[in-house]
Amino acid sequence: MADLDVVVVGAGFAGIYAVHALRSAGLTVRAFEAGSGIGGTWFWNCYPGARCDVESKDYSYSFSPELEQEWSWSERYPAQPEVLRYLNHVAGRFGLWPYIQLNTRVTAAEWDGERSEWTVTTDDGASRTARFCVMAVGCLSAYQVPSLPGLETFAGPWYHTSRWPREGVDFTGQRVGLIGTGSTGIQVAPEIAAAAAHLYVFQRTANFAVPNRNRAVDPSWEREFKADYRSYRKQAQESFLGVPITGTGRPALAEPPADIQRNLMERWRAGGGMPFLGAYTDVLVDRAANDIVAEFMRDRIRETVSDAAVAELLCPTAYPVGAKRLCQSDDYFAMFNLPNVTLVDIRSAPVSSVYAGGLRTADSVYELDALVFATGFDAISGALNRIGIRGVGGVPLTEKWAAGPRSYLGMAAAGFPNMFIVTGPGSPSVFSNMVLSIEQHVEWIRDCVAYLGSHGYSTVEAKPSAEDAWMAHVTEVAYSTLFPLADSWYVGANIPGKPRVFTPYLGGVGPYRARCDEVAAAGYEGFVLD
Ligand SMILES: Cc1cc2nc3c(=O)[nH]c(=O)nc-3n(C[C@H](O)[C@H](O)[C@H](O)COP(=O)(O)OP(=O)(O)OC[C@H]3O[C@@H](n4cnc5c(N)ncnc54)[C@H](O)[C@@H]3O)c2cc1C
Repeated sequence: MADLDVVVVGAGFAGIYAVHALRSAGLTVRAFEAGSGIGGTWFWNCYPGARCDVESKDYSYSFSPELEQEWSWSERYPAQPEVLRYLNHVAGRFGLWPYIQLNTRVTAAEWDGERSEWTVTTDDGASRTARFCVMAVGCLSAYQVPSLPGLETFAGPWYHTSRWPREGVDFTGQRVGLIGTGSTGIQVAPEIAAAAAHLYVFQRTANFAVPNRNRAVDPSWEREFKADYRSYRKQAQESFLGVPITGTGRPALAEPPADIQRNLMERWRAGGGMPFLGAYTDVLVDRAANDIVAEFMRDRIRETVSDAAVAELLCPTAYPVGAKRLCQSDDYFAMFNLPNVTLVDIRSAPVSSVYAGGLRTADSVYELDALVFATGFDAISGALNRIGIRGVGGVPLTEKWAAGPRSYLGMAAAGFPNMFIVTGPGSPSVFSNMVLSIEQHVEWIRDCVAYLGSHGYSTVEAKPSAEDAWMAHVTEVAYSTLFPLADSWYVGANIPGKPRVFTPYLGGVGPYRARCDEVAAAGYEGFVLD
C-alpha cells in the first residue's frame, strides 16, 4: 500500500488549495515545497514593486465564503508582502501547516505500473509512494538567467527578480543595469531608480503598459461589494478571463473613431489591463482593430515622456498589443524623465559581454556596480521538465514533451497515469485570473479522485487520442487570434532552443470549465479508468 494517497508538489496558490481540498475529501496528503516558506510566486518574487495586476477582489480564493468575508485587502492591486501574508493566513486558518514540508525539492517522480503508484524522491534523499501526484509547480516558477558571456567575471552583485534577497537590496549611490522590460522589469525599474545614482534600462523589446490607478480599498465600497460576493464569483467563473469585465460587446472596426478614442480614454483613466483590452471584441483577433488600440497606447507614451527620441524607443511596434502579457504600471514611462535614468536600445546594439566593471554592447561600454535580471521564466513546462518525471515504461516527461508540452485539458498527460498538473499546457492558466483557474483545476482533480474511489477504479490516464484532439483545439483557437504573432514566453520564445508551441488555452475560462464538467459528467470521457 502506498504511503500516501496524494503527493502535492509546490505550495503556492495551487499547492495550498490542493492540500486543503484533497484533505477535506478524506485523503492523506503531503506537499513538498522547495522554498523555505509557502506562497510560490509571492514567496520568491519579493523584489521592490512586485504586485499583482489582477484586482485583489478577483485575485483571491473563492472556495470559502467565510474567508472572503473575513479578509480585507488594503489596495486594489496589493503588493507582494500582502499577498504572501494572505496565503500564510489561509494555511493557518485551514490548518494546513502539518501537511506541507518546506525546504524540500522533489527531484524525481516515477510511475510503478505494477503497484499503480508513484515513487516521489526529494533532495533530502527520502522517497515516498503515493497513489496520485498533483504537480502544483507553477507556470512561472522556473526562473531564467540569460547566458551572457563574462557574467562570472562581474565584480559587483547581480540579482534575478525571482530570487531577490529577502533582506532587500540597498542601491543607494550605485550605477545599476536592468535587463528585462516585461511585467516585472516595468514594476521594479521605478523602485531602483528612486534609490540608485543611475539606472540603465537595457531594452530589447519595448512593451505596452496600461496604468493601474492603484488605490486604497474604500471600506464602504468593500462592504457593499462583499454583500454580493457570491454572485460576483459566479460571474467570474462563467467569464472569459476569470474576471467579470464589461466590454462594449462590439468590434472596434464598427465604431466611429471618435467614440473609440473616448471609450479607450475612459478605460485608460480607470486603469487595469483586462478592461482595457476587453473594450472591443476584435482587438485580439483583427490586426486593424489592434493597431487602433496600439496607437492609442503609443500616444500616451509620447505625451508622458518628454524626450521625443526616448519616447519613440519606448513605443512598442514589434507585436500586436495583448499578444504578450500586457504590463501594468503607474510610473514606468514617467520614470524616463528623471535625470538618473537612461534607456539603452539593445535591439540595435546588443549586449556583447559582461566584464568586471560593467557591460559592453555592440557600440558602448556601461560602468555598473550592480546588475538586475528581470528576465522571466521557462514558462508552463519549465518547472515540470526540471523534475525527473517518468511515466509508463519509464518514459521521461521531457522525452514526451521534446517537441513541446502537451496534455489533455491542461491537467493530464497520456502515458502518465494518476498524475495531475495544475494549470498545465492546454489550460487557460496564464491567460486568466490564475487563482480562479487554479481552484477550478483543483476541484476537478479532487472530484476525479473521488469518482475513481467510489467506482472501484485505481488509475486514470488520458487517452493519446483525447490529448491530440485537445491540443489540436488549443492550437486552432490560438491561431484564430493575434497571439502567435509575438515572440513571447507564451510560445517559449524567451528560452533558447525551446520548441515554439502556443499552449495556453484561449477559448475562455467559462467555456473551458463547461468542457471539463462535460468530460466528468460523461464518466471522464477521453480517459482510461482502470
Ligand atoms: C511577479 C508575478 C506577478 C504575477 N501576478 C499575477 C496576477 O496579478 N494575476 C494572475 O492571475 N497571475 C499572476 N501571476 C502568475 C502567478 O504565478 C499565479 O497567479 C499563481 O501565483 C501561481 O500559483 P501556483 O501555485 O500555480 O504556482 P507558484 O506560485 O509558482 O508556486 C509553485 C511552487 O512550486 C514550487 N516548486 C516547483 N518545483 C518544485 C519541486 N520540484 N519541488 C518542490 N517544490 C517545487 C516552487 O518553489 C513554488 O513555490 C504573477 C506571476 C509573477 C511572477
